[in-house]
Amino acid sequence: MTVDAIIEHCRAVVAEPLGAVAERWKAAHPGGRAVAVYPVWAPAEVIHAAGMLPLALLGGGTSVELTHADARFQSFVCSIAKSSLELGFQGLVRGVDGFVFSNICDVARNLASIYKRNFPEAFVEYLHLPQNSTSPAVVGYLQGELRRLADAFAQSFGLEVTDAALAKSIETYNTLRARLRALYRLRIEAPEKLSTVELYLALRAATLARPEDTLGWLGDLVAALPGRPTRRQDRMRVVLEGAFCEQPPLGLLEVLEEAGCYVVEDDLLLGWRWFTADVAADGDPFERLAAAYVNQAAPSSTRHEGRQHRSAGLIDKVRRSGADAVVFAPAKFCEPALFDYVLMKQGLERAGIPHLVVEFEEKMWTFERTRNEIETFVESMLFD
Ligand code: SF4
Repeated sequence: MTVDAIIEHCRAVVAEPLGAVAERWKAAHPGGRAVAVYPVWAPAEVIHAAGMLPLALLGGGTSVELTHADARFQSFVCSIAKSSLELGFQGLVRGVDGFVFSNICDVARNLASIYKRNFPEAFVEYLHLPQNSTSPAVVGYLQGELRRLADAFAQSFGLEVTDAALAKSIETYNTLRARLRALYRLRIEAPEKLSTVELYLALRAATLARPEDTLGWLGDLVAALPGRPTRRQDRMRVVLEGAFCEQPPLGLLEVLEEAGCYVVEDDLLLGWRWFTADVAADGDPFERLAAAYVNQAAPSSTRHEGRQHRSAGLIDKVRRSGADAVVFAPAKFCEPALFDYVLMKQGLERAGIPHLVVEFEEKMWTFERTRNEIETFVESMLFD
């Protein structure tokens, strides 16, 4: 498959409602189950090891009008929480058998309970991720949480997660993440070969299939991109930060690039490429996954990490990717991103790294003001 054909395939997959993706897979796998995870991270490996289809629950984007969910939340709540609930009310997740949430913020915590209350027939599980990653007990604690999730699958669906199956799933997801890391490396080296919209579509399509159905085209993409005929333009290299949960509309990503940026690093769909290196290959697989979460996870505003200043991971990303600046893009009302912005701003200023703040909402559809802001920022940097 050519690069363009792969990207078009991904665009088509991403345009489908989540429930339709689940139904299509279940029609091809009679008796199969699909479980969707709310951002940022959940162990897709455990869902996969139970033989189910792991999916990303990422709200309704621009495609869903809120008709019921607004009444279940305060007005100052991020869009992804409301539209994820709305998907349920509008039958757009019919076919998805279960949902996993975690303690990334108060909104996600409430969303799990609201989902359970409004859709009592659905499997809803809440993962208590560790708050103290420096405690000697943290790996054992998280290992227990992951086993509890596996037990819940067994109890509700009759699907066991054996150690052997989980070890195999870890291996498969290691391969998937290695290919995604290869795409990210390639974009750092030659951002003109793969736009951020294209990379995002590939990544998002990978969250809508079992990894074994993704590895083929992902491998083709990695292999074909270096030979893609393109010409590098005079643009500013930026890191896009803050969009780790609610995802920006494609239009915003397009405008960022059209306004003169090459996005060379980002935290889009971070949970699906959470580990910075392969999860270890030997030992208890639940313990290995837990240890990877504690010791080799990407920095994130939703992960409680006491060992480094909040800005350290971002500054490292800037240095590693050879970026000139940061575009900080928090979703409107996203408390973890907005709280961290204060600390990140301090760190960036100390390191002499310029930045611009561009707030967004998933359902945003007009970008002219944002385009002007980005163009002005780019010009101020390029012609300084
Ligand atoms: S967008 Fe931010 S506030 Fe909303 S659920 Fe996600 S992390 Fe929480």
